[in-house]
This record gives sequence, C-alpha cells and structure tokens, in this order.
Amino acid sequence: MAVKYLDEIEVGGKRVFVRADFNVPLDDTGAITNDNRIRETVPTLRYILDKGGAIIVASHLGRPKGKPDPKQSLAPVARRLSELLGVSVQFVGDCVSDEAIAQGRALKSGQVLMLENLRFYSEEEKNDTDFARKLAAAAEVYVNDAFACSHRAHASVEAITRFVPVVAGGFLMKKELVNFQKAMHNPERPLVAVIGGAKVSGKLEVLENIIGKVDSLLIGGGMAFTFLKARGYEIGDSLVEDDLIETAKAVMEKATTKGVQVVLPVDCVIAQEVKTGVPTQTVSVQNIPKGWRGLDIGPETVKAFAEVIKRSKTVVWNGPMGVFEIPEFEKGTFAIADCIANASVMSVVGGGDSVAALKKSGNQSKVTFVSTAGGAFMELLEGKVLPGIKALDRD
Ligand code: AMP
Repeated sequence: MAVKYLDEIEVGGKRVFVRADFNVPLDDTGAITNDNRIRETVPTLRYILDKGGAIIVASHLGRPKGKPDPKQSLAPVARRLSELLGVSVQFVGDCVSDEAIAQGRALKSGQVLMLENLRFYSEEEKNDTDFARKLAAAAEVYVNDAFACSHRAHASVEAITRFVPVVAGGFLMKKELVNFQKAMHNPERPLVAVIGGAKVSGKLEVLENIIGKVDSLLIGGGMAFTFLKARGYEIGDSLVEDDLIETAKAVMEKATTKGVQVVLPVDCVIAQEVKTGVPTQTVSVQNIPKGWRGLDIGPETVKAFAEVIKRSKTVVWNGPMGVFEIPEFEKGTFAIADCIANASVMSVVGGGDSVAALKKSGNQSKVTFVSTAGGAFMELLEGKVLPGIKALDRD
C-alpha cells in the first residue's frame, strides 16, 4: 500500500480536514473520564499548526444513531483539546451547514475548528457521497488519524477522500500501520503469535491469515479447548465449539504443512463455576473432570509459552489466556503479559481485551507497541484491507 503520511505532504497555508477518533468516555455529567484518545492525536494537530496550516477536526462520539443528542456533543472535547493544544478551538454545532462550511473556509493559519459529532447525521455511517462532499467543502488536504475507525467505510473516512486533492495518514495512523507492518509483514524472525480469547469462531479469520506468516502459534484462552478436543482430549465442561472441531484440525494440519509450530496448553486452572471465590484446581489438560471447566492456562503452559516467546524476535498478542476479569483465573494472562514485556522482542499487542489485560498487569509501557484500536486491529490481523486505509492509497 502506498499511503503517504503527514510528514510527506505540504500543509503550510492549507486548510486541513483531520478525521480523529475522539470517541472518549463521558460520565453522567458529560465530563470526559479519560482523554487518551484526544492526547493521541495532539502530535498530528500540533505538526499541522506548526507548519502554518489551519485545521477542521471531526470525530464521532458514542452511538447517537443518526440524530443529534446533546449528551453526545463534542463540545466538551473541543474544550479539552483547546487546553491540550494551548490554542483556542472554535466549535460549530453541526457538520455540513452553510455556516459550518463558511467557518471552515474562513480559517486562517494556526486556527482550529471542531465540527459536531459526525454520527448526528445518518449519512455518515452510510458513506453518503453528498454528505462527504459537504464535509470536504472547506478542505484542501485530508488527514486520517483515526486508525481505530478505518475499518468502517464511513463518509468521513472513505467517501470524503474523493473530494480532497491531497490525502495522507496522520502520525497515530502511521504508528499503527508501521508497527503492524514491522511485526506481521517484515518481522525479525522467529515471529510468534499468542492468540487467546473466548471463542475460535471470533478468531477464525485471524488464525487462517496468520498461519501462513508466523513461525509459532501459541493458543490459549477458551478457544484452546476446541483445539484440545480436536486432538482427542476430554475437556470436561470447558468452552467448546463442536462445529469448529474440523476447522481446528484443518488449522493444525495447515500449520504442519507450512512448518509452523502450534503450541496448545498442557495444563489449566479449572473450576465448576465462572465466578470469584469458587474452589479451583490446576490439572493436566488430560485430566479435566466432568462438571469442571478450564478457565486459565496453568503454570506448565506458561513455562512452555514463555520458552517460545523468549526464543523469538517478534511477538504479536491478541486475546487473554483465561478469564482474567476474575482474580482466580488471571495469573496465566498476567504471566504471559510479563513474559512478553520483559523479553527482548519487538512486541505488538492489540484487540480490546488483551490491551485491557496488559494494562491491568502493569506492563503497558514495556511492550513495543499497543494498538489503540479493537476492530481495526483485528481486521488487519485477518489480512483485510481497511477501507479507510485503501482510500488513502493514491497510487
Ligand atoms: P475475545 O473477545 O474473543 O478476545 O475474548 C475475551 C474473553 O475471553 C474475555 O472476556 C475472557 O474472560 C474470555 N475467556 C478467556 N479464557 C476463557 C476460558 N478459558 N473460558 C471462557 N472464557 C474465556
């Protein structure tokens, strides 16, 4: 993909439309409870201002379903952005009115205008052409810094690019794509993928895509039990998808053909119920009694996974190794997080739950890169071309 980034284009004296992801959590009073997503885009915005550009910045917030909802207004985000940038951010209460377009066109070098929540318009999610044309009306350059939204062909991500002469990825987009590419397309080998989470069905396309790329695949979490059953083990009452046993076998056969090592758990922490305070046991995966279910990987599995991780040069991790939300079943996930964080490897972690687990384990700052995205990261792992990134490719 020939995507240009912000530092490869000219923005001085230009009006730049920046699609950001300011989908921040708000409390009942409308106050922002975590401003990370705003902070992540500051380098892109700062750069444009420093080069003498003017900015029209737009984002969605929540799920207003195509109608204005004052509780999901971006006005508080504009105020927070003003503080972070140290520049007054003008706010216009809509996106495509004559007034919004006129305000955008009137911007001078160094000024910032924030539009209202894009999803107050049903046209946004429909990738509507007229809406996109109006969004673009005041812009001379388009910058997408919303990697986490780029798996959706929405008007501010996809259709808008047809109406702006120059398009580029912002610095957050660049960080996401460059790190992912370094890990999955041009890795220092051996490359290991650690895949966990609840179900095989949610990770099928990921498994099918990565099996041809990695050197080793470590499978933990609930999904491991479908693989263990495919290998002929009794797995008690562990989570299993019987309709995917043949698929699990096919994945393992493909791995064998391609010389990819697949490592499954050898032991696990079991309980009769998935709740805190219940009695647990640690058993070999060959000895899971009826009425008990595997809810975390055991210490022998941690050792086996850790050996592979330590011998590798690149690690990609998605999905927890157990039900880490419950203290009794968190150890395996945290041990793998510690191992990845302390191994001298290039490490990329992405997908909602693994990032949450990494943060909970206190290792977030020790891995090479933590993706800001859930769905978009998963689609990259699935080998898909994201519509918002394809739209930036002008070659
Ligand atoms: P996913 O969204 O597919 O990555 O799945 C994440 C969820 O998988 C987390 O909420 C975990 O609690 C759950 N999970 C991990 N291991 C297990 C397991 N052994 N049995 C049931 N659920 C699990």
